[in-house]
Order: sequence, then C-alpha cells, then structure tokens
Amino acid sequence: MKVFKFGGASVKDATSVKNVANVLSLFKDEELVIVVSAMGKTTNALEQVVNAYFHKDDKLGEYIEEVKNYHLEIIEGLGFKKDHRVYEELSNMLVEIDWILEEEPARGYAFAYDQIVSQGELISTKIVSAYLNENKFGNEWLDIRDCLITDDTYREGKVNWDLTEKLVMMKIPALLKKEKLVITQGFIGATPENFTTTLGREGSDYTAAILSYCLAAEEMIVWKDVPGVLSADPKYYEDAVKLQEISYLDAIELTYYGATVIHPKTIKPLENKNIPLRVCSFISPKEKGTSIWHHHETKPLVPSFIFKTNQILISISAKDFSFIAEDCLSRIFGVFAKHKVKINLMQNSAVSFSACVDNDTFKIPGLISELHLDFKVLYNEGLKLITVRHYYPSTIEMLIKDKTILLEQRSRHTAQIVLKEE
Ligand code: ASP
Ligand code: MG
Repeated sequence: MKVFKFGGASVKDATSVKNVANVLSLFKDEELVIVVSAMGKTTNALEQVVNAYFHKDDKLGEYIEEVKNYHLEIIEGLGFKKDHRVYEELSNMLVEIDWILEEEPARGYAFAYDQIVSQGELISTKIVSAYLNENKFGNEWLDIRDCLITDDTYREGKVNWDLTEKLVMMKIPALLKKEKLVITQGFIGATPENFTTTLGREGSDYTAAILSYCLAAEEMIVWKDVPGVLSADPKYYEDAVKLQEISYLDAIELTYYGATVIHPKTIKPLENKNIPLRVCSFISPKEKGTSIWHHHETKPLVPSFIFKTNQILISISAKDFSFIAEDCLSRIFGVFAKHKVKINLMQNSAVSFSACVDNDTFKIPGLISELHLDFKVLYNEGLKLITVRHYYPSTIEMLIKDKTILLEQRSRHTAQIVLKEE
C-alpha cells in the first residue's frame, strides 16, 4: 500500500484532473491512499473570503462566486452529465460556507478560517473522486475528519497521534478492501468535538506523511510540477540540478531552512517508520524523481541553495549597555515565542543579539514594540537570506561578490548569509 499526494497544481483544471488518472494508470492493481489538496489557488481564494467576512467587505459575494465558477468550469471540463451528483455536492459545500458567513464570527478568526478554508479540499476530493469513478478508477471517498484528530489550535492543529492512528486503522484498510483506491483530503482534520481544523498552509504533504505513518505504508509519493527536488529554485538560480537521492537528514534541514518543495513536518513521521518518500513529476510520471530515505547519501552532493526574501534583521541590546546574558536571552526568546515568530538565523555578541526573521506584517510590529519595552531595538528590512547546504568556499565567494553582507554564519555543512535585496 502506497500513499500519494496530489497538490493544488496537479488538479488546477480539467486537463490536470484527467492527468491524475493517467498517473494512476501506471499503478494498476496497487492499493493507494490518495491525498488531494484544494484545486489550484483555491486556498488563497477562500482566505480572501474569510478576510472579506471579517472586514465586512462588500466584495464577499463576488469572491464566493469566483470560487463557485472556478469549480463549475472544472466540472464541466470533465464532461459530467448535467444531472451528475457532483453538481449537488459542490453546492452543498458552498452552502456550508454560506451558513458560516450568515452568522457573526463569534469564535474568532482562526476558527472561522478553518471552517471555511477547509471546504477547498472537500470540494476538490469530491470532484476528483467522482471523475475517477466515472472513468474506471473505482474509489472510496473518505472524509479525513473522521480519522485525523487534532487539538483546537485552529490554523495549526496539533495531531493527536494515538487517536488518529487508531481511527485510521479502523477505517482505511476496510475501505481499501472495497476499492483499491481511497481518495481523501490533505491539510484538514477535526477536533474531538468535530470542529474542522487545518494543519497550516501547504499542510497536505504532512497529511500524507501522517497517513503513511499510521498505515505503515510501503512508500509515499508526492506528485509535483517539477522533476523532483532541485538543488535550488530555478527562479533564483539557473544552474539548479535535480537531486536523485537525499538523506532524511538533508531533507529535514533543507525544508527547515525554507526549501518549499515539501512541507517541513513531512519527514519526521516517515523517518520514524523508515518509509521512503519520493518526489515525482506528474508531467513525466515514468521518471524516477527524487528519492528521500534513511539509507541514502545525498547525490549528487552539490551545494543546495535556499533563498528567502523579505527578511528583517532585528538587533536587540540592553538599554544600559549591559551584557546580553542568559536571563536577557530567555526574555527575548519568550517574546519571540509569544508572537509566534520563527527565527531563521541568530547571532549574539557581548551586548547585542540579532535575529533574522520573515518580515510578516501581522506579527513583526507587535514583536518589536514589545521588545522595545525592555531593550534597545534596531532593525533592517528588505533583506534576503541565502542558505547553502554542502557549500564550497567558492560558492560563497560567488554569492557575496559585490554585495553588502549584514550577517554571515558557517557550520561544517551549512552556510547562511543575510544580504540586502537588490
Ligand atoms: N491547500 C492547502 C494550501 O494551499 C494545503 C496544501 O496545498 O498543501 O495551503
Ligand atoms: Mg498547495
């Protein structure tokens, strides 16, 4: 049994959905649990709906209409008959959204966000499942909220592993006995009280890893619009090459530093049961892609680059020129944790502590004003953080040539540089 994950780009229009069947035809007779994300940019579109609801924006109706028309177009492109159930299923899910929007948002933003945004995955899986059923890929549709249980940290649900594993084992193998394919949603879960939660943006990879773990899958495959994991995002670095094999450790480090090819939380559940992960292209599904596994040494062992733009470097020092010692550091970390700001790179000297973080317009102003209460705070915006794993000194020379460097750190395998963005 294998677990597949199809992301938004792989189901973004009717042609792409048809291509999913094409990929699956290469795995005839295998048992597959297939995790699907919301179609194309639906999650962003639904975020816009939530924001309009909260800000009482008159465009709200228009935004919902866009979501509806987008999916209708895909359904029509897939050639369903006018009286097919999939039309009714789409409108049922849109009605769910309407119900939420009719009430005042009493339980806060994150709660409403999860109830609304989750419909993207529910709609997409209904469409994909119906299409496959119509085309000789008999499958069972599963509401993952019956299995994947989280706490009530809305927008960042923490998985209840024991309960989830029990429910997954109770439901999924039985469904696989009925049909070889089970189609379910990525990114969403539910609290024990049955309220919908989400696992954080791009969380569908994580869902697939959770299911792989619980089912002790033989392999997990993420189908993407790239040939595999590349040594850099070609948008920033044209000499990027495809990595054939990566160790779990390198994969976790690369995603931690911001490589967006897979969600950072994906590796741990797989590593814990030694389940291999492959990243393959849904455009050329016969190609091998990139294989990530315990027994692999990363190959080819070339430098991998991760570029993070829109960074801010915050420098914090005591108001009276005293040392930044452990007690100060613990206060500073407390403030970062409270504002949920993740530190991408940090460094300290006798009298100052510097941290490079994503310049999030929601979180950073609050963080800085709280730090200001106790410390002197200076900051520098418009920065880029480059992380190079398995670097050579010459790689760094090339990157920093003629650039203004604000901070640089090197360990044995990883170099990180903060520069001014051009
Ligand atoms: N649809 C969700 C998102 O766009 C989850 C995912 O695609 O992995 O963030
Ligand atoms: Mg996505």
